[in-house]
Amino acid sequence: MIYLKTNDEIEMMKTAGKVVGSILYELRETVRPGVSTKEIGDYIERRIRGEGMEPTFLGYYGFPASACISVNEEVVHGIPSAERVLKGGDIVGVDIGATYGGWVADAARTYAVGDVSRKAADIISACEASFFEGLKHCLIGERLGDVGHAIQACAESRGYSVVRDYTGHGIGQQMHEDPQVKNYGAAGKGVKLMKGMALAIEPMINEGTYETETLLDNWTVVTADGKLSAHYENTVVITDGEPELITLDSREA
Ligand code: MG
Repeated sequence: MIYLKTNDEIEMMKTAGKVVGSILYELRETVRPGVSTKEIGDYIERRIRGEGMEPTFLGYYGFPASACISVNEEVVHGIPSAERVLKGGDIVGVDIGATYGGWVADAARTYAVGDVSRKAADIISACEASFFEGLKHCLIGERLGDVGHAIQACAESRGYSVVRDYTGHGIGQQMHEDPQVKNYGAAGKGVKLMKGMALAIEPMINEGTYETETLLDNWTVVTADGKLSAHYENTVVITDGEPELITLDSREA
């Protein structure tokens, strides 16, 4: 069941999204060599609560933290840890959600830690580029298959594979609602986009195989071959005109 959001509901989501986007922008400074993923997670939780919002991820299906922080070959759902200290050359995906008055916004970025290899920098930029290729199709009359196809075509043209085991999703009063938003697929297929849809679009792309495994902590998802992975996500609202990116800080442009 796909819930179309009213303007008032979208305003609530935008309030949450503004905080999410702002925090992800601030992390450009926070994420650096010598910082543990727990310190980053704690910063995120303080910032969300400081705005009078709830960290959506904390306790979600029992997840133990307010952010998913995934380093290098970790794809998604990494648990912040005091033992995991970032070093120059790492790449780190940070995924966060905030709930305001019962309405959720969800977004992720992948950051370079210090100086990174050309390959590491490229997978980050390719992931972001694939999101924006998909976004071009977030228009009334297009279909989810058009979005996924554009993401996949962009990522694969740059030599990366698209993760199949995890996808984007509708979002609203629940973090995960219908429809599923695949980062791959056939143009012209799937659900038609309609005004008032809110979608978390989140390509996860890998340097090698798209296959993944889950670690024994039952959360951390890694690439099956141990090669790099990148993640980029925004909450997107479908309108009469251009789609609205409610989690992209204006300073990021
Ligand atoms: Mg998401």
